[in-house]
Amino acid sequence: MEHIQYRLPWSASGTERTLTLFRFGSGARKAYIQASLHADELPGMRVAVELKRRLLELEAQGRLSGVIELVPVANPIGIAQMFQATHQGRFEFSSGKNFNRDFPELVDVVAPLLEGRLGGDAAVNIALIRGAMVDALAAMPAANSELDGLRRLLLQHACDADVVLDLHCDFESIMLMYAMPQHWPRLQSLAARLGAGVTLLAEGAGGSAFDEACAIAWLRLAERFPEANIPLACAATTIELRGMADTEREQCVDSAHAILGYLADQGLISGDWPAAPASHCQAVPFAGAQYACAPHPGVVSFLQPLGAHVKVGDPLFEVIDPLTDRQSVVCASTDGILYARERLRFAQPGLWLAKVAGSTPIRQGRLLSD
Ligand SMILES: [Zn+2]
Repeated sequence: MEHIQYRLPWSASGTERTLTLFRFGSGARKAYIQASLHADELPGMRVAVELKRRLLELEAQGRLSGVIELVPVANPIGIAQMFQATHQGRFEFSSGKNFNRDFPELVDVVAPLLEGRLGGDAAVNIALIRGAMVDALAAMPAANSELDGLRRLLLQHACDADVVLDLHCDFESIMLMYAMPQHWPRLQSLAARLGAGVTLLAEGAGGSAFDEACAIAWLRLAERFPEANIPLACAATTIELRGMADTEREQCVDSAHAILGYLADQGLISGDWPAAPASHCQAVPFAGAQYACAPHPGVVSFLQPLGAHVKVGDPLFEVIDPLTDRQSVVCASTDGILYARERLRFAQPGLWLAKVAGSTPIRQGRLLSD
């Protein structure tokens, strides 16, 4: 195992932050796994603890047939953001920016480096493109903030991987995944191993989240250079490892083993692994997800458990204003699975309280909320 550390730029005088990465194995193929980019989403960090333990063993047994890079604490800025005993790891305190948005659009920086160099050989093109991505990120002007520097380091390590797994969670949630539709066939065994309840698919959800920044560059390059043979060489997914409180040892260890099984499916680990379960969840368009909000302030009571299969018109939650007695029941506007619920129980204007994954697109434009 290689232990790699980077100092982030622009720390306040007298302080410094370090990004730590562990690299296991060797070979041509590569997987990149990071946890807790939203720093208060900790199930991924617990999964990473088990991944590190097992990867050390597998490496000692000579069973790694590729490179696996693991970043257990992907957000050293957010991990320290405590506000009056409450952890706030989603938005950077100093800029207000979401840690998982605005990753650099790789296509814009690499396309000029690739003019006239790509041809009909996919393997040659993959090597050229990955080299150009690494070079382009290294050649960018110095980062102008600590957050910028962090984003660049993470992307620099992920951009040349065959598989990128970004470990997140929702507030209260079932296990689920986000991916580009083109990658779904390759990710089905991961969904099956994790026991995901649904996978949400989008080609460009907006906001340039980490997984999308890694995966979509290949699609955009293939559009930019139609005469060249450019495969979608980076299968990236965001895994929502249930909810924020779901750091129990047994389920996190199970998730880590599911991920290792998937890496074996992908040819990165040799030896015997249990086969992936034959059945996997449904994949539905992310545009089919209902984000249900309350129509007024008040205390919230949920009327459905997580994972409930609901029909249009089924009640999701009620909100009651204790001063005016105004009471509303918010219902499903699509048939689907209630996959996530807000942690808070007091309705806030414009903030979703429940999310339902339906199979009919009902939203357009930017699909990701902040
Ligand atoms: Zn997240």
